[in-house]
Amino acid sequence: MSETQITNWLATQKQAMIDLLRDVVNIDSGSYDKAGVDAVGARFERHFAEHGITSWRENHGTFGDAIHALVAKPGSNEKPVLLMGHRDTVFGKGEAERRPFTIKDRRAYGPGVADMKAGLVMNVFVATAFQTFGGSPHPIKLLITSDEEIASPSSRPVIEREGRAARAVYNSEPGRPSGNIVTSRKGGIFMHLGITGKAAHSGANFAAGVSAIGELAHKIVHIHALTDLSKQITLNVGLITGGQSVNTTAPYAEGQIDLRYVEPNDRDAVLAAIERIVETSYVPGTSATLAIKGEFVPVVQSEGAKALFTGYQGAARAVGLTTLTGEFSGGCADSGFTAAVGTPTICGVGPVGGLAHTAEEYLELDSIVPRAQALALAILRS
Ligand SMILES: [Zn+2]
Repeated sequence: MSETQITNWLATQKQAMIDLLRDVVNIDSGSYDKAGVDAVGARFERHFAEHGITSWRENHGTFGDAIHALVAKPGSNEKPVLLMGHRDTVFGKGEAERRPFTIKDRRAYGPGVADMKAGLVMNVFVATAFQTFGGSPHPIKLLITSDEEIASPSSRPVIEREGRAARAVYNSEPGRPSGNIVTSRKGGIFMHLGITGKAAHSGANFAAGVSAIGELAHKIVHIHALTDLSKQITLNVGLITGGQSVNTTAPYAEGQIDLRYVEPNDRDAVLAAIERIVETSYVPGTSATLAIKGEFVPVVQSEGAKALFTGYQGAARAVGLTTLTGEFSGGCADSGFTAAVGTPTICGVGPVGGLAHTAEEYLELDSIVPRAQALALAILRS
């Protein structure tokens, strides 16, 4: 097959890509909605079956199943290129009905349209392009995961395993609104802080009480003070709850903490500082627990990742994306897991969009074909 055959074929598939995107956006697939996430998976499996692409499922009892597909020349034992993406969204049930896939002024809207159902559709069509012309010169592995928006509790081991087995990873999270891709990302840890105090009537029996809310307030101030913007370390207690009634000293309180960092070495130091704050009782008589609820590791630029980026950038230029470059993103993604196992990884190679996780989320429809062409060319030339 020639480069032109592949890029020309992808250019003819814009409407087919939009049609598949409409189907998958119109199925609710919040991370905890296994039935919905699996229904989106089934729609992709139907596409694979219709195009003669081998695919299989790795079942999971709680979250959606992992979907795998492979396009390769028979008998090839070359390490595959891994095209990765998640099909869960941050939106609850009923969102797709309230806000179905729509197109206005060359932009598409709907839950998860950019983050990241368009990236999955692009990956699927890149694989389909190679399948159509007799298989890929380098094996292409697709992985469609189910729970990225909640830090990939079920997908992480699958991603790490597939990442280790691959020679390069392209994660098709949406391209930045500028059109750039993502070459480095912050790491992040979500934590739950629970505090126990003692209930007492705050009028009649005040001295017998111990306020968990008072303790939480002290801890929040200390935790926030660990923020160091010069090192891009940030701490945010984004949710709090606690107490029983206005006239009772609070027997319990809890907070949810989001830590972000860039340097892998900062992780343990900041965690240790948080643990010291958790162990300290600023209000005598309180006790506290800390639990990690989810974690993303940072994407740092290895030499291999730089080379992968340079190759991708050259391919992008060849299809007219002449200003495309790499950017840092404060957001976290599954690409951190494959970068951490040592496989060259770049992220944000999906079609361009913005305002993810809001009702204004949009996708630039005219970016679908060139981004697919850039990815296919990058694979062909690697
Ligand atoms: Zn995403």
